[in-house]
Amino acid sequence: VFVCFEGGEGGGKSTQSRLLRDRLAERGYCVRLTHEPGDTPVGKDLRRIVLSPETGALADKTEFLLYAADKAEHVETLVRPALARGEVVVTDRYVDSTLAYQGAGRALDAGELEEISRWATGDLRPHLTVVLDLEPEEGLGRFEGRDRIEGEGLAFHQRVRQSFLDLAQSDPDHYLVLDARAAIEDIAAQIARRVEPLLAR
Ligand code: C5P
Repeated sequence: VFVCFEGGEGGGKSTQSRLLRDRLAERGYCVRLTHEPGDTPVGKDLRRIVLSPETGALADKTEFLLYAADKAEHVETLVRPALARGEVVVTDRYVDSTLAYQGAGRALDAGELEEISRWATGDLRPHLTVVLDLEPEEGLGRFEGRDRIEGEGLAFHQRVRQSFLDLAQSDPDHYLVLDARAAIEDIAAQIARRVEPLLAR
């Protein structure tokens, strides 16, 4: 079973992905918690290049291809092997982040990004994507340090947010959209309720 967490900055993706991992592990499932970009050796270098303010401006297509390379490495060396071993894989960000940030955010062609991302991942799709939705004003306020992307303007982050919501709306069977302002435990419980039937299959 493959579960993704998506959403803008500061919505609690890493907190909730850890809580889900802990909850499933307590119930005896073997869970691999992972994230994009940067959860493989080469991915760490890609993450540094693409997010460090020292990198300066990157052409939009270059940025996208760096994320796509991270994704290809992540899926092939980490996600697929874990799924093949029967583990539950929980990832903090996946293809939707690319469609939202590099597509809606940077205004690259969404169809082309989707095609290349599907190619990079061998079209591996999550059973469920949890979107932790939050006003960008609020999410960005939860951070002190700014990387290249967090420093983008509000309009950029508003397009990103809308893109996650549109993706979710286009395929409700595979998405759970939650208000990230709710209590951490309530959010965790709603996620668990939605994930449990997937495990029973
Ligand atoms: O989720 P995390 O904070 O690790 O993400 C790192 C940064 O990478 C975030 O600022 C996010 O906006 C950015 N990102 C991106 N495009 C992606 C994935 C992440 O701009 N496809």
